[in-house]
Amino acid sequence: MAGKRLILMGPPGGGKGTQAKRLQERYKIVQLSTGDMLRAAIAAGTPVGLQAKSVMDAGKLVSDDILIAMIDARVDEADCANGFILDGFPRTIPQAEGLDRMLAKKGLKLDAAIEVRVPDERLLERLTGRFTCAKCGEGYHDKFKQPKKPGVCDVCGGTEFSRRSDDKAETVKTRLAAYHQQTAPLLPFYEAKGVLKVVDGDRDMDLVAADLERVLGL
Ligand code: ADP
Ligand code: ADP
Ligand code: ZN
Repeated sequence: MAGKRLILMGPPGGGKGTQAKRLQERYKIVQLSTGDMLRAAIAAGTPVGLQAKSVMDAGKLVSDDILIAMIDARVDEADCANGFILDGFPRTIPQAEGLDRMLAKKGLKLDAAIEVRVPDERLLERLTGRFTCAKCGEGYHDKFKQPKKPGVCDVCGGTEFSRRSDDKAETVKTRLAAYHQQTAPLLPFYEAKGVLKVVDGDRDMDLVAADLERVLGL
């Protein structure tokens, strides 16, 4: 697994973050979540954050240039030397082309692009029930993954949780439309390169994780 460079694709609420975190823990390849990076930029009030906030609140995609520059810089950091999982990037064809150029320039190769496939009708429930530990970021769900002790994070013992403002029903619709229009074309793009693998994400998280390890040959 050392040195693997992976892309995790799938609709909002598909389970990308959940699976990327598990791979990170188990195989020590770092999760690069562009959504998390953008939310951190918003919280820090950086110029990128200021630009991204209204776009994200509307459920639309932040500009390709911002995303490509963000990932380009992040991949050069030391913790990425042992491989990385791109969670939520690329999300458009121009981003995928930007990633190709970036990897070529750095002399790096992509090992696999994985689609976590989940039908639309599951996603509203996944997203509106999602919450995370405010202290460590562990992900939870009202119905599918409650903390073992109510109100207390399994991982860090934290007692404060947060919900994303874009996980409300109205915004979810726009995010799904963006996925189908702008991100779904990446599936044939990576298929043509011979690196696409598909995992059925409409099952219990542990089964999805096992299938992911199987398709990656772990
Ligand atoms: P993404 O990063 O693709 O948007 P998440 O990993 O955050 O998705 O998952 C969305 C929500 O659904 C979270 O609350 C998570 O706990 C829950 N979830 C993730 N995978 C599954 C699954 N296989 N079955 C049921 N719920 C899941
Ligand atoms: P999701 O649960 O929808 O997969 P993310 O945390 O990956 O959520 O993304 C949240 C929001 O951040 C997106 O709706 C979009 O506005 C922005 N974003 C994240 N990654 C990208 C990207 N690669 N390109 C454009 N916008 C992005
Ligand atoms: Zn926690």
